[in-house]
Amino acid sequence: MKIRNRLNPSNPCFSFEFFPPKTDEGTANLLKTLEDLAPLEPGFVSVTYGAGGSTRDRTLELVTRIKRETGIEAMAHITCVGHTPGELRDVLQRLEEAKLENVLVLRGDPPRGQTAFEPVPGGFRHASELVRFIREEDFNFCLGGACYPEGHVETASRDDDLRHLKEKVDAGLDFVITQLFFDNAFYFDFVERARRMGINVPIVPGIMPITNYEQVHRFTRMCGATVPMRLGLQLERVKDQPEALVQLGVAHATVQCMELLSRGVPGIHFYTLNKSPATRMIVSALRART
Ligand code: FAD
Repeated sequence: MKIRNRLNPSNPCFSFEFFPPKTDEGTANLLKTLEDLAPLEPGFVSVTYGAGGSTRDRTLELVTRIKRETGIEAMAHITCVGHTPGELRDVLQRLEEAKLENVLVLRGDPPRGQTAFEPVPGGFRHASELVRFIREEDFNFCLGGACYPEGHVETASRDDDLRHLKEKVDAGLDFVITQLFFDNAFYFDFVERARRMGINVPIVPGIMPITNYEQVHRFTRMCGATVPMRLGLQLERVKDQPEALVQLGVAHATVQCMELLSRGVPGIHFYTLNKSPATRMIVSALRART
């Protein structure tokens, strides 16, 4: 199933993002988790792509197994980091052979220790170049990409970032998924600006339920997302009470999702960080509402 056909404001789809576990036992646990999530009828799940060789193989193996063993549509992320075009072609061929139909196309972050992104010789500098390559090579994937309601961390201005997004969509994206945000106003404003710029593909909001105090601050520092002051104060108050913190995170994300759904989003993508109980609680509440 091509994900673009599942993104529909009148029947929005919930999707879950995981990273590939490092061990076989972790993979088995994740597949079990997915069986538990299946009754929530996820539109798809996606698996991130890391920086090194073995974790990359695990991404490809995991998406293949998810689709084969659970029947849930699975999407692999791929990045330009450290890959030549020929290597990327091989990765895409493996996905095609495994009958996977969707790919999230990313540039990737600079590897640890490097501050600026540097492509390998002959490699791609921007995600848009990889999107163009996939279209020119005649693969028949449905392609997603990343976008940033608060602007990508490296960009000089949000308008520049949006112009680059337009170029990436025009190269052949079918939909985009946003970076996480905790204040829906950023998303609504972004969608309005994107539409004015002529970006017409579905823009799926990415939501991360907060489950860990240090982690949320680390992530927001890395990706430039804002923690609204009120939420920041609430988090500060419960930072030493793990259960209360999860409850706060679930409540905040649920309220965010209810508003997003009431305003007609085509789907919601959950950054689960492989901790699915929080996401399960949110999606159960949202399903009960409909
Ligand atoms: P691009 O679209 O190439 O943009 C990167 C920067 O370059 C932006 O500042 C943009 O404005 C600028 N730019 C683009 N085109 C041009 C141009 N022509 N001229 C000048 N500047 C330009 N990372 C991983 O490593 N693995 C993952 O699995 C992964 N999954 C992700 C999933 C989602 C939904 C999101 C939102 C992010 C994910 N990331 C992942 C992080 C992502 O790789 C980083 O945010 C990365 O820094 C940018 O990737 P991109 O695809 O958005 O890059």
